[in-house]
Amino acid sequence: MTYDFDLFVIGAGSGGVRASRISAGHGARVAVAEEHRVGGTCVIRGCVPKKLLVYGSHFAEDLVDARRFGWQLGERSFDWPTLRDNVLAEVDRLNGIYQTNLDNQKVTTLHGRAVITGAHSAEVDGKTVTFDKLLIATGARPMIPDLPGAEHGITSNEVFHLEALPKKLVIAGGGYIANEFAGIFHELGVEVTLINRGDTLLRSWDAALRDRLLTISMTKGINFRFNTRFDRVEKLENGCIRIHLHEGEPIETDMLLWAVGRVPNIEGLGLEAAGVELNAGGAIAVDANSRTNIENIYSIGDVTDRIQLTPIAIREGHAFADTVFGGKPWVVDYSCVPSAVFSNPPLGSVGATEAEARNQFGTVKVFTSDFRPMRNVLAGRNERALYKLIVDQASDRVVGAHMIGPDAPEVLQAVAIAIKAGLTKAQFDETVALHPTMSEELVLMR
Ligand code: NDP
Repeated sequence: MTYDFDLFVIGAGSGGVRASRISAGHGARVAVAEEHRVGGTCVIRGCVPKKLLVYGSHFAEDLVDARRFGWQLGERSFDWPTLRDNVLAEVDRLNGIYQTNLDNQKVTTLHGRAVITGAHSAEVDGKTVTFDKLLIATGARPMIPDLPGAEHGITSNEVFHLEALPKKLVIAGGGYIANEFAGIFHELGVEVTLINRGDTLLRSWDAALRDRLLTISMTKGINFRFNTRFDRVEKLENGCIRIHLHEGEPIETDMLLWAVGRVPNIEGLGLEAAGVELNAGGAIAVDANSRTNIENIYSIGDVTDRIQLTPIAIREGHAFADTVFGGKPWVVDYSCVPSAVFSNPPLGSVGATEAEARNQFGTVKVFTSDFRPMRNVLAGRNERALYKLIVDQASDRVVGAHMIGPDAPEVLQAVAIAIKAGLTKAQFDETVALHPTMSEELVLMR
């Protein structure tokens, strides 16, 4: 039996593009189908434009602090359409690069929605495609809760395209996206209220960092409501949104942003036509090689909901391609995956939190440095950074690093190498400090 392609990939996001390119490099005839834009969530409506908005919004504080450093600035004003359009233009540029990279590797891009019709066939906008192997890399999308009027809220998909900034914004959720956009919009002058169903932000993060983020965010002026559930959402005639809560009085806002998690994109994909099974959480079930229950069908990235991070999807795509088409099998190692929240200030974390380490290792030593970055001192900004190292007492290995403060994710990536390599606290201490930096705290904690 000959097929149109050796590999058919559904979804040209970070994972799908990497898998396509590497497989093609190994000599496979590859096609990738994409219904939106090549680049996926990260490039088009996630990490990249979000990070650019973080940079853009941070000028609000930088321009204030500049006065303490001797800079006299004229009248300041902010123009949202300029930032928005420049960010979207950068997204267009990256989208072009992704497409070019696919073309250069002779990957066929099919612009349309793919529906699986059997283990070796699919339709893209009504046209049949046959293939030997199938890779499902359709990602995830923001979850919109099932409650009356939920459609009046927007999600992170729409937030990059706003006509104008709202005066008031309510953000539902307390995770990555909620805290990142709370930081961005607060800096841009929007009155932000974050409403969370539970009593903690960023549940999986180290408790000391979560507390620090909450304290700093509240000091900056972001409003928080915890243990609060939404009943229904109503659009008023004046265009405002009224949110009816399970607890307390309704609140009115100009805009509501749902940031309550992301769900795998599986609807209408035709998984049942090929017999692909889901796991208990509703994501595509895969083994360590990203293979589904069907022998020739694989899946990677957010649609499998292992760890919802771009570099993980990319690795899964690369491992798949090398294993299936390159004759060089390997599996992704999910230990010590660094993660960051680009809130204001940002957080970075790798390895075990203090609580996890106590469960896992028994006796642990915790080293903390709670300091005011030099720049904040001169700026008169009373914001403290917090770094934590978690050490397994028995082996002296540093098993976790957690930090909140300016540029914490930049520092964290480097320390993640040391932790992944299994270095001990003594080896951290043997390293000479680089002065004056914030990251020198990592080798000065006694
Ligand atoms: P998160 O999982 O980070 O947070 C979801 C939040 O919504 C939690 O506070 C959760 O509360 C709450 N929640 C969940 N379900 C409901 C519900 N039905 N009603 C009300 N509240 C609810 O999700 P995000 O959407 O922020 O981000 C999704 C994922 O994308 C992240 O987990 C991360 O993996 C990835 N991401 C990574 C980024 C980065 O690397 N910087 C940036 C953005 C996203 P509770 O704690 O009670 O469960």
